[in-house]
Amino acid sequence: MKLFDLRGGVHPEGRKDLSAQRHIRTLPLPERLYVPLQQHIGAPATPVVNVGEHVLKGQLIASAQGAVSSSIHAPTSGVIAALGDFAAPHPSGLPVPTITLECDGEDRWIATEAVDDPFKLSPEDIAARVAAAGIVGLGGATFPAALKLNLSRNSGVQTLIMNGGECEPYLTCDDRIMRERAVGIVEGIRLIAAAVAAKEVLVGIEDNKPEAIAAMQKVAQGTAVKVVAMPSMYPMGSEKQIIQVLVGREIPAGGRPADIGVLVHNVATAFAVQQAIRYGKPLLSRIVTVSGGAIKTACNVEALVGTPVRELIAFADGYSQPAARLVLGGPMMGQQFTNTGVPVVKGTSGVLALTASEIGQAEASPCIRCSTCVRACPVGLLPLEMAAHIRVSNLSGAVNLGLKDCISCGSCSYVCPAHIPLVHYFNYAKGDLAAQERAKLKQEATKKLADARNERMARIERERAEAAAKRKAAREAKERAAKEAAAKAEAV
Ligand code: SF4
Ligand code: SF4
Repeated sequence: MKLFDLRGGVHPEGRKDLSAQRHIRTLPLPERLYVPLQQHIGAPATPVVNVGEHVLKGQLIASAQGAVSSSIHAPTSGVIAALGDFAAPHPSGLPVPTITLECDGEDRWIATEAVDDPFKLSPEDIAARVAAAGIVGLGGATFPAALKLNLSRNSGVQTLIMNGGECEPYLTCDDRIMRERAVGIVEGIRLIAAAVAAKEVLVGIEDNKPEAIAAMQKVAQGTAVKVVAMPSMYPMGSEKQIIQVLVGREIPAGGRPADIGVLVHNVATAFAVQQAIRYGKPLLSRIVTVSGGAIKTACNVEALVGTPVRELIAFADGYSQPAARLVLGGPMMGQQFTNTGVPVVKGTSGVLALTASEIGQAEASPCIRCSTCVRACPVGLLPLEMAAHIRVSNLSGAVNLGLKDCISCGSCSYVCPAHIPLVHYFNYAKGDLAAQERAKLKQEATKKLADARNERMARIERERAEAAAKRKAAREAKERAAKEAAAKAEAV
């Protein structure tokens, strides 16, 4: 199959060998799980259980709220110990609303509804079951999967791309799931394709995963699913880049893949879809890569959502040397964290403990205008110019140069010989922009409320005046009638 060129991109050291050859192992049941109500893009879920209540594995414990949200289920059986705040798997580490579950050790399932022939289900039914199972994009975006299916069906998507790129260094969770669960993944892909009536189904896998490519090709044989080996390059696994390479189309600025007739899902999401549709199992766990030079035995584990990260590190035999940096996700786009008590969530692809030599913290020096960052940017932006605008607080200048199209891949920072943390500027500026947009929306909402109040007061005043005028007119008519009656009586 013809592949298209990827603009920019870099070749960071993969370090996937640390964990790639180890089979997925299941983490033992922890004593407590800390399940945040927001593990997805959109509105947080609302708890539907009370403290002290016993729940079964797979039971709904928090339901989706509004159009963009996702439900959450009990990852195992046990008793709800608390409904309150707990440290978030986020750089801030600030507490977020969380359900704490005391595991009872029995791991007892709620009754589930299996479907013998899932391909007889209607597209709407498939999407409804995906929504009920609380499935979100497991590649890291955590967008509610059912919503993506519905939007794509309504906009007439033609091509389904399954993302098996996994271009971030160290991460091998997608590689392992494709090698070990290809049957479930391919069935999940075919169900997603049926849900959106896709005409073409492509699975893009980087060519540094030959075993995964072979496993997927073997299972996909005789189906409409086409497994394609792509060159290994970062950020091949990013949505925009995989579309560019496989179908040669670019998403317009500010647009979505559906705008060009494409839907992209991650391969692990396809497995979750198959489990939900065929076996009625909601999304309760995920495969996480535990790796980095400071981890004694790098591995891939299947961890229940809500498991404290420290349990994964302990399962990997702990640290072999001091960790200079802890990261959730990959080293290029992941989030640093310090508190190992934070829980695994649906979007946690990796737990990395990196040594000082792996992160190579060199002092930043002034820009030498070599334009290496420009050549590396996969979006075709001018990182040095954008950073210059941000440095002088000229956000609109950076926006004019395409700041909103920056995918925060960090390729520019990675190649910069002056070690300028360019992507940090862009993330900071995007945070500022988001805050400004939120403030603007709030201002508009406040103005709308004030206008509505003024209008209501004016209407009440108008109605009062009209009523008073009516009363006055009635009174005057009555007085006139009385006068006329009196005049008539006098005349008689
Ligand atoms: S790579 Fe670094 S030094 Fe070179 S132009 Fe870009 S910001 Fe400047
Ligand atoms: S972080 Fe943004 S500016 Fe830098 S290379 Fe990636 S997309 Fe381009």
